[in-house]
Formats: sequence, C-alpha cells, structure tokens
Amino acid sequence: MKQFLKNIFYFKCAFWDFLLHDSKARILMYHSHELPNVFFNVSKEQFVWQLDYLQNHGYHFVTVSRLVEKMNNKESLRNVIAITYDDGHRDFLTTALPEFIERDIPVTLYFPKGMTRDTLVTSTGISCPLISREEIEHLKKNPLIEIGSHGVSHTEFPTVSDEMLAVELAREGEHSIAYPRGKHGAREVREVQKAGYTSAVTTISGFVGHKNDPFIFPRISIDRETNHLAFRAKLSTMFGFYASVRVWISSRKQ
Ligand SMILES: [Zn+2]
Repeated sequence: MKQFLKNIFYFKCAFWDFLLHDSKARILMYHSHELPNVFFNVSKEQFVWQLDYLQNHGYHFVTVSRLVEKMNNKESLRNVIAITYDDGHRDFLTTALPEFIERDIPVTLYFPKGMTRDTLVTSTGISCPLISREEIEHLKKNPLIEIGSHGVSHTEFPTVSDEMLAVELAREGEHSIAYPRGKHGAREVREVQKAGYTSAVTTISGFVGHKNDPFIFPRISIDRETNHLAFRAKLSTMFGFYASVRVWISSRKQ
C-alpha cells in the first residue's frame, strides 16, 4: 500500500514537470552498484539509464566544489547536477568510473580516509569492499574526480568529543565533506567551516538554490527503489518543493 501511494506521488511529480520549472541545482547521492542486497545499491542497468536520462534532458554536470563556485559567482543553477558517491565502494572503479570517463561527467567521491581495513560494514551488518588509499591517490589525478572527505573513521560526528572531531575534520586538500550518515548539528557545521572546507553535504532531501547554506547541502538519494518513474519524479520541481516543506515542518517540531 505504501509503495502504491509512493507511486501515485511520483507520478504526480513527474507528470506536472512539463509545467513547473525551477532554477535550483540537484545533488544526487549514490553509493554502490554491485551490492544487490544493500538498500543504497543502484544496479548498473538502472545507473546507465539514469545517466542517459540526464544527458538527454540537457543537465549540466559539475562537482560539488564547482557548484559552490557557481553560487559564489551568482551563476545560474538551472539544470545543474552534481553527482556524489559516499564511502568509496570498490565498484565505483569498475562500474561507475568507466561511464563517467566515457561521458566526460565530473563526480565528487566522499571517502572515509582513515579506513585502514579494506571493507566498510553497513548499519545492517553487510560488509562492503572499499577502494584502497593508493587507488584514491590515483583518482585524485583524474580531473573529472573531486575527492571529498567523509571523515576519518566514518563515525557519526555528533557522537565524538571536540578533540576527536578535530581529528575527523583534518583536511588533506579536500574542499568538501560529507557528514557520515548525514549526522550533523550546530557544532559540526561550525567546525567544518573552521577546518577550511567550503561545503558539506547531508542526507537531507532537497534541491540547492542560491540561498542554501553550503555547509548543509541537501541531496537526492538514489537507491535500488529508484525506478524510472521515481528518478524522473525525484528531479522534478514538485519533489523539491515537497522536500523543502518537509524540512520546514521538521524544523518547527524541534
Ligand atoms: Zn557513509
């Protein structure tokens, strides 16, 4: 029943999109492509269809730091898309990267740089292979790839002491950071700025306009349930409006 209602909502969002247009950027959040048992996985087939869709609909691709530059320069954000990946799952190298290179699409990859193990265990206990530090260093040389920080140990920032937070936020040239599991509060936002980052992404749903705080960037989550209809809907103006209303309501409850 819940899925049925969701589909009706997605259908409405996608249907009205030919009438409604906004001038906000979208930041898409991906994780992996070869972990079929994990919720955040997007199959290669779906992923390729999504890239085709974006390219066929005139979207303009940027890294997250380039998006910040556009905001600072007061450039238009209309049809701007920033594709992001969290965690550095190994299949980024084998499935996603060849597509980005072939299509000349820039992408921002957030990596928990202190992961000395070669796997990351999800909140549901699934062990996922990660890109190695050496491979990250190699990726940094690719002009299409922006490497962002995802903290050091992937620990949720609000749970650590001030001293540990400083360690988690240490920069190695990164300009953007993704809060692990999206968790952040006023202290984390303040300290991220102090550490010298120019942006931080969350898991809050929504689009990015000129008035958005670059240290609390919302994103659109793309997961295994994001079928063709849902993908179209998640990019739509109506979906962005709905997401901002939800954020406003939850901020009033706090
Ligand atoms: Zn993560």
